[in-house]
Amino acid sequence: MFDIATRDIKYITGVGPQKADVLNKELKIFTLRDFIYYFPYKYVDRSRIYYVHEVDGNMPYIQLKGKILSFETFGEGRQRRLVGHFSDGTGVIDLVWFQGIKYITGRYKANEEYIVFGKPTVFGGRINVAHPDLDKPDELKLTSKGLQPYYVTTEKMKRSFLSSPIMAKMMATVLQQLTTPLPETLPAWMIAEHHLMPLNEAIRNIHFPTNSEALRRAEHRLKFEELFYIQLGILRYAKDRQAKYRGFVFEKVADIFNTFYSQNLPFQLTNAQKRVLKEIRYDVGCGRQMNRLLQGDVGSGKTLVALMSMLMALDNGYQACLMAPTEILANQHFETIKQLLCGMNVRVELLTGSVTKKKREPILSGLISGDVKILIGTHAVIEETVQFNSLGLVVIDEQHRFGVAQRARLWSKNVNPPHVLVMTATPIPRTLAMTLYGDLDVSVIDELPPGRKPIVTQHQFDNRRESLNQSIRRQLIEGRQVYIVYPLIKESEKIDLKNLEEGYLHICDAFPEFKVCKVHGKMKAAEKDEQMQLFVSGEAKIMVATTVIEVGVNVPNASVMVIENAERFGLSQLHQLRGRVGRGADQSYCILVTTYKLADDTRKRLEIMVRTNDGFEIAEADLKLRGPGDLEGTQQSGVAFDLKIADIARDGQLLQYVRQIAQNIVDADPNNNLPQNDILWQQLRALRKSNVNWASIS
Ligand code: ADP
Ligand code: MG
Repeated sequence: MFDIATRDIKYITGVGPQKADVLNKELKIFTLRDFIYYFPYKYVDRSRIYYVHEVDGNMPYIQLKGKILSFETFGEGRQRRLVGHFSDGTGVIDLVWFQGIKYITGRYKANEEYIVFGKPTVFGGRINVAHPDLDKPDELKLTSKGLQPYYVTTEKMKRSFLSSPIMAKMMATVLQQLTTPLPETLPAWMIAEHHLMPLNEAIRNIHFPTNSEALRRAEHRLKFEELFYIQLGILRYAKDRQAKYRGFVFEKVADIFNTFYSQNLPFQLTNAQKRVLKEIRYDVGCGRQMNRLLQGDVGSGKTLVALMSMLMALDNGYQACLMAPTEILANQHFETIKQLLCGMNVRVELLTGSVTKKKREPILSGLISGDVKILIGTHAVIEETVQFNSLGLVVIDEQHRFGVAQRARLWSKNVNPPHVLVMTATPIPRTLAMTLYGDLDVSVIDELPPGRKPIVTQHQFDNRRESLNQSIRRQLIEGRQVYIVYPLIKESEKIDLKNLEEGYLHICDAFPEFKVCKVHGKMKAAEKDEQMQLFVSGEAKIMVATTVIEVGVNVPNASVMVIENAERFGLSQLHQLRGRVGRGADQSYCILVTTYKLADDTRKRLEIMVRTNDGFEIAEADLKLRGPGDLEGTQQSGVAFDLKIADIARDGQLLQYVRQIAQNIVDADPNNNLPQNDILWQQLRALRKSNVNWASIS
């Protein structure tokens, strides 16, 4: 038999060159292996018809048989919808259409029998099926095949007649042609020990399950394998790297650190800050190259930890560098750190895109001579032209804005890779961190500096402007400052900007006695900085802004965060925004303003925000509600692989289980030479070559 990993699909009967071309372009399916590993995203049981009285909102796609009693339309213009009240004698549910209303009423008649196919949901306390398929019973042959696979298809595929049913047909043809069993990809001992379905059986059942039990076992086997090889790859790589790279050794803590600690530190470190500094101290002293992720909720005092780690580098004759994702944030770090180091003889410089050539030159030469000890900047600092004398530590703030490639470029700034400390306020659930970063060590600041009052969060509907304005006024009169945030996304940029401008005018009107400033991403950098400065200095009392303020801005006097159209923000984004207040000693408030009509998910998001300030709880909830694919920033943060079947949100337990198995294997077989593991290392090599960029995970 031919090798499935190299067999081009265009030569496969049932596919052919034309379809192959579309599959190449749309799904990056090139080989027979790619094709049979293109798994269905759902299965539909079209062998069974349900009764209306059995239906609830949590069911997948189902079929019902009955009649539309009557049609009714609701709403006007874009809100208009058509409802067909559908019954089979056991109950009534609503079929709903938002588009093509004329077509539907022309085509389907009341009091005739139809088979309805769709996904039930609950809306406004009633069960709905939106945009169902309707067929006459005699035109639809109910198959006895049971579970039918559904494949994700793109618009282009559909236009080339590659719909889901066609994909299913091709898959069936292709699998039939595979007359010899697919070669096993896990060692026999593992399959026996963990009661796994053999690969050949699993692949056939994942596409065409014989029954739901076989489907469950096939899914388990394939998820197991997928997660296992990722973990094995990460752990193998980590071990090899530890053996290969030496880290700079920061032997001592000396004058610079000690002077800062005894004379400049404006407050007591929290216990969490102390613990994390100890962990970092150990890392940079032990001879290994540090790769540490520092998680700490907004306002937990990460900047100070970063600075003190940099001072450790300085004490040992090395330079340090701090990278921030935006110019505003880099500026703010620069100011904060200069102030903290006041009176100490440490040269700190700022390098961003807007630093002029004239100012840039002395900085660059200071870096080469070693005179500049700390460099703070945006990604300008990783440009080719920036050369250090002896870079020993790099701190990356708000890591999720930095791509993996950018991180990798830092490594080339010295003969050995510098120690790396990555700081993030997006708390990444442990299971996800394990998969994303593999061997990155994780430190957590789980304690806020003393004296902070928990932020009070409220949800308000947008028809209660008057009472909202009154609350805002009360805070302003007490001398506090207020943020008002509007969503701004590319797809609806024009409308969003208009909303923001209108909101701004409305606020200026309502609060004539206070200065209002305005910041959004479409402004020129200089104008933005100027407006921001008005707020930072306290001259402006209200800032109307888009999410540009999300990251890092620190104005302790601001005590109110109003988020307009809060329904349009994701959970972690809401949490980040809320973190802009509650930084001073005063009671702070976050007010989530939404329209009256809310989807279930949205309501849940808002409830979580009102209930808790705990970033980790929010991140876990976010992962559950949205799935890791959407998790803010994961795309940029270096997920170097896409999961075909496993789901990090749901398969966390399995992930930990297989990680332990992988760990045991790497420990027991450090040089890859136990014969029973041959298949593992072969498979790992093959995977490394194909879809996973291992070097970037770490
Ligand atoms: P983040 O972790 O969000 O980056 P910052 O480093 O900006 O937080 O710190 C938030 C605020 O808390 C700053 O104003 C900082 O000066 C202050 N802060 C940090 N550590 C402490 C501490 N141990 N005690 C009191 N205030 C602190
Ligand atoms: Mg910060």
